[in-house]
Amino acid sequence: MIIIMLGAPGTGKGTVAGFLEQQLGFKQVSTGDIFRKNIQEGTELGKLANSYMVKGELVPDDVTIQIVVDRLEQPDVQKGIILDGFPRTVAQAEALNTILAKKGQKVDMVLNLTTPEEEIIERIVSRRVCENPECKTIYNTIMNPPKQEGICDKCGGKLIQRQDDNEETIKARIATYMEQTSPLVAYYQKQGVLRTEEVSQRIGRLGKDIADDIAGEIKNGNH
Ligand code: ADP
Ligand code: ZN
Repeated sequence: MIIIMLGAPGTGKGTVAGFLEQQLGFKQVSTGDIFRKNIQEGTELGKLANSYMVKGELVPDDVTIQIVVDRLEQPDVQKGIILDGFPRTVAQAEALNTILAKKGQKVDMVLNLTTPEEEIIERIVSRRVCENPECKTIYNTIMNPPKQEGICDKCGGKLIQRQDDNEETIKARIATYMEQTSPLVAYYQKQGVLRTEEVSQRIGRLGKDIADDIAGEIKNGNH
């Protein structure tokens, strides 16, 4: 089964994908995490990706598509995959359809998360992530705090703030989303696989609630 997480930065794609991975056993694959791992390790890919990420721009399609093509070949994603942060352009979506068609597969569900704009910035600046590359659990100091401040509940790792989670870069990331990624909403709507869910603290609907609903439906065979 192939699930895509769609939505502006700060809507909770990674959080929902993490819960779905736990509940369904499908592998979460985040292109952002792959780039950040390469940045930490100082690879050539990391250097290239970082030059775009610090500006809130997208890493070029050819580079990003190749990473996903390679990742889709690996054994741990054969049961199911939750693509978190890919595709982000129409060209990436078309490349994905082509690759999947060759394997006799297709995109099963596109989960489009929306959040009121005023909540997005607040949520991103209060986001913390576990620095342990094997864990990377996402917390929020307001909505989803760890039991002990600054420490990951799951692995005891240190919680850090992402370099691009500052107000200036967030605004650029939102603009990039509007321009280059938001056309994918109509794109997947046309393919009949779009499901839109609002994540909002104000209406009391958080990522966990959405993941619970969707995992329940999938387990009951409703997809
Ligand atoms: P967020 O959705 O909160 O912005 P991500 O971790 O998904 O966070 O992405 C962080 C950055 O990594 C993006 O701003 C972009 O520079 C780069 N990136 C991630 N995925 C892609 C992609 N599919 N195509 C191009 N760039 C990407
Ligand atoms: Zn951790």
